[in-house]
Amino acid sequence: MGLKKFIINLAPTPLVRLFASPYVAGDSIEAAIGTAQKFWEERLVCSTIDLLGEELESDEEVQYIVNVYERLIETLGHQDYATISLKPTQLGSHRGTEHCKKVIGGIVARAEQNNIKVTLDMEDHSFTDMTLDIFRALNKDHPTFGTVLQSRLFRTDDDIKSLKGLNARIRICIGIYNEPKDIALQSKPEMKKKLLQQVELLFKEGHYPEIASHDEALIIEAVNIAEKLNMKKDFYEVQMLMGVPKQSFQDELIKNGILVRLYVPFAEKWKYAIAYCKRRLAANPAMAAYILKNILHKTAGKH
Ligand SMILES: Cc1cc2nc3c(=O)[nH]c(=O)nc-3n(C[C@H](O)[C@H](O)[C@H](O)COP(=O)(O)OP(=O)(O)OC[C@H]3O[C@@H](n4cnc5c(N)ncnc54)[C@H](O)[C@@H]3O)c2cc1C
Repeated sequence: MGLKKFIINLAPTPLVRLFASPYVAGDSIEAAIGTAQKFWEERLVCSTIDLLGEELESDEEVQYIVNVYERLIETLGHQDYATISLKPTQLGSHRGTEHCKKVIGGIVARAEQNNIKVTLDMEDHSFTDMTLDIFRALNKDHPTFGTVLQSRLFRTDDDIKSLKGLNARIRICIGIYNEPKDIALQSKPEMKKKLLQQVELLFKEGHYPEIASHDEALIIEAVNIAEKLNMKKDFYEVQMLMGVPKQSFQDELIKNGILVRLYVPFAEKWKYAIAYCKRRLAANPAMAAYILKNILHKTAGKH
């Protein structure tokens, strides 16, 4: 672990919360929906709204998360700009695959009544099988249910091939979790090269790739692959995290007819948000310095 990541891991909650604020929409359903609505109305940017929280091991906490998702779905209602994302470890994975499938299945069915698509996020490799089992089982009855694959894992090509015939929404990213070298690539350039090959494979296998990256050159290359394969622009989309400063690039993509979707996380209880915030800051520690500079400028009256 590098020194910066080590310091971020030790940082107290209020500091993590302050530095991670650009990556989080707020602390209520209304704040999350308000952010998503603003992205849509001002820039035609779509969102996927996520309730922060993971690695929960008590039934009460899981029930709380289910209730928040149900309220989110009711408040969002029928609209065109927002999907939702969720994670197995916030929704019952501690009780095994069957239980987790039942809990997530309830949310997916509820979302479907409002025409809201749901994506099952991918966590570290110890959850890959469980996540894909749940995805396969629920996708049969809910064809808009999507999931995520990580290009760094050696198994991902086989996982894509194992989803043949589902014609599913698959978010493809390099992955945010450090994984052991016997099961995963270790160098970012190699992960990105692999990601591009997997975008091509996803197209060829009939899926709808959601290209999740902030690397502009990679995204341009992915769009070139889509064009080479004569894929229409509504056969794929580009996804980024809110808070990563890529607005003009996103606007350019949208001007060119490509759908851009931002990951819009929110937290009602901040204790559930800290792991996510730390990962975001560790992915780019320079953001902490940038935010601090902004705060100092504002304090000094410069805007
Ligand atoms: C919508 C979405 C959903 C995701 N879902 C998952 C998931 O389910 N499972 C999973 O494992 N991973 C997920 N990821 C994480 C994804 O794997 C990371 O975004 C990835 O690790 C970062 O790689 P990158 O392709 O952006 O390349 P990088 O080389 O990391 O980034 C490219 C450039 O983007 C900028 N940048 C990147 N991150 C930040 C940041 N945090 N702050 C400021 N600037 C930044 C930097 O300028 C950097 O040079 C998701 C990402 C997105 C966008």
